[in-house]
Amino acid sequence: MPRPIKCRKVCCLPACDRFGPLDQKKNVVKSIVMTVDEYETIRLIDLEGLTQEECSLQMKVARTTIQLIYCNARKKLAEALVCGRMLRIEGGEYKLCKDYDTPCGKDYCHRRKYLEKEE
Ligand SMILES: [Zn+2]
Repeated sequence: MPRPIKCRKVCCLPACDRFGPLDQKKNVVKSIVMTVDEYETIRLIDLEGLTQEECSLQMKVARTTIQLIYCNARKKLAEALVCGRMLRIEGGEYKLCKDYDTPCGKDYCHRRKYLEKEE
């Protein structure tokens, strides 16, 4: 029997969950689906500069799991960029920060930080 997947802690959902080539003439055949927990590793490691170790503590999963999730996420990003595919962010095993008893309250947690830039 497969082990149940442990929920990964995610600070907030992406402000935008659909990306793709602006060149509409290109026929977009199949879109790539990135899960929300994969997205979170990209956000924490690539944008916020966390190490995989710190990321695993933050998302409450083993470092080896983070390594896997992060690797998948990078591969999907690369494929979207190189092959000009649509990228959607949805699904995955995760639990939002605000649903935990104690929100993490880390600098990189505030969702406003990203949303403010749009206003
Ligand atoms: Zn948080």
